[in-house]
Amino acid sequence: MAQEDVFKKLVAHCKEYGFVFPSSEIYDGLGAVYDYGQNGVELKNNIKKYWWDAMVKLNENVVGLDSAIFMHPTIWKASGHVDAFNDPLIDNRDSKKRYRADVLIEELMGKIEDKIKKEVDKAAKKFGDSFDEAKFRATNAHVLEHQAKFDEVHARYKQAMNDGDLEALRQIILDYEIVCPISGTKNWTEVRQFNLMFTTEMGSTADGSMKIYLRPETAQGIFVNFLNVQKTGRMKIPFGIAQIGKAFRNEIVARQFIFRMREFEQMEMQFFVRPGEEMKWFEHWKTFRMKWHQALGMGAENYRYHDHDKLAHYANAATDIEFRMPFGFKEVEGIHSRTDFDLSQHQKYSGKKIQYFDPELNESYVPYVIETSIGVDRMFLSILAGSYCEEPVDDGKDTRVVLRLPAALAPVKVAVMPLVKKDGLPEMARKIIDTMKLDFACRYDEKDSIGKRYRRQDAIGTPLCVTVDHQTLEDNTVTLRDRDTMQQERVSVDRLYDIVSAKVGTRELFKQLV
Ligand code: ATP
Repeated sequence: MAQEDVFKKLVAHCKEYGFVFPSSEIYDGLGAVYDYGQNGVELKNNIKKYWWDAMVKLNENVVGLDSAIFMHPTIWKASGHVDAFNDPLIDNRDSKKRYRADVLIEELMGKIEDKIKKEVDKAAKKFGDSFDEAKFRATNAHVLEHQAKFDEVHARYKQAMNDGDLEALRQIILDYEIVCPISGTKNWTEVRQFNLMFTTEMGSTADGSMKIYLRPETAQGIFVNFLNVQKTGRMKIPFGIAQIGKAFRNEIVARQFIFRMREFEQMEMQFFVRPGEEMKWFEHWKTFRMKWHQALGMGAENYRYHDHDKLAHYANAATDIEFRMPFGFKEVEGIHSRTDFDLSQHQKYSGKKIQYFDPELNESYVPYVIETSIGVDRMFLSILAGSYCEEPVDDGKDTRVVLRLPAALAPVKVAVMPLVKKDGLPEMARKIIDTMKLDFACRYDEKDSIGKRYRRQDAIGTPLCVTVDHQTLEDNTVTLRDRDTMQQERVSVDRLYDIVSAKVGTRELFKQLV
């Protein structure tokens, strides 16, 4: 199936099975804003819990925080967001559609990379075991041609972004004949900067109200609470502060479902370290965060690091963790070495001393910071994209849609179903649920045939189904069905709790992280 079709199906599936709905749908929706339905909210909560426990519970020197969305407006001046939180935008005069100039160029580079990959895959197939990829890449004329083009675009792009040179960005778009996907023309406007922060007003005083911003990241709430947490928690450097919360960005282009939203949620951790030790900790968190992703078992080949070409004004190192989405490898998480930029800026703008006295060094300093920042919604999308699967069943006569979600994240862990709605089977099913519902999300289902009920659970990713039948009343056994293998086995009701617990717990995931 073409990747575009997979993506379309995924979006439709999210709606049909109560994962994600367009916001304000009965009013025709609101651009790039989404609501999470009955299954979506469970999956989202499980993702957040997996993150929170991995960061705060497994690391004794990381603590949590929940800061307000509204903050003093000077914070955004100090952080640089008022002056520099911009995206370069460009319009196509014919379609009247607006694009991010940097995204258009990155897409072009992605297409060139795809061409190279196609050549390599073709040759690998042809030569089989004797294929030497490095040699092929260094000698094949087509690959060399594509690579030269890629390197040229890349170099010009990097230069233009680093210089903030909008005209140079436009020139790349013209020189490489990038066309608008809607109109198909190259009739582009100039490139302009566009600030992504939403504003609103607070209070009403004689002098008028105060203009405030909806936070575009949760990180600043952590920085301005650095001293509060450090002092009251008696924290010793190195230590981290983690927070999950909403963030808002007036994105120019928001066409990829929950990949790029205007209201979204972030899970961020700022780790405060001694100046000079930041690279060691940057590497540490890079590795830890990649392990966190890979522990979910969705295939190591679907993740990669992508080092930034353009460092943000505050960073001295930055990398993204990318996941293979149906529309290519895309950033899910950013890991940044932010130096002492943020704390120093807040020190300057607030006039308050923000320093740490290091008893081992016997000196005070402004700590350096390593940040890990991941979007809950993008993580959600990556999990769904990696789990969605259509497969033939009944000797190819039928197809089933199954979400192979990591069991620990599944919205429902176990569905319990009476074979028929009589003879005491529903009561028995409910009794079984009572033995598990305090620890696992259980669902009772008695409608339709058992086959249809299994399919419904497959479609929302429920790892285990339990069927109660007449034999259950006689010997206290049930049929246990596994989502992925569709294997069924007869097990004693007394063993169910332990079986479910072993399958759906986070313990096995966390063991891979420590
Ligand atoms: P992009 O380059 O895709 O715009 P970014 O580099 O601006 O992302 P960061 O500022 O590093 O993103 O934010 C950290 C994380 O927050 C991202 O890795 C992503 O998972 C998430 N995120 C950022 N913007 C959005 C958005 N508009 N919608 C959903 N998630 C987002």
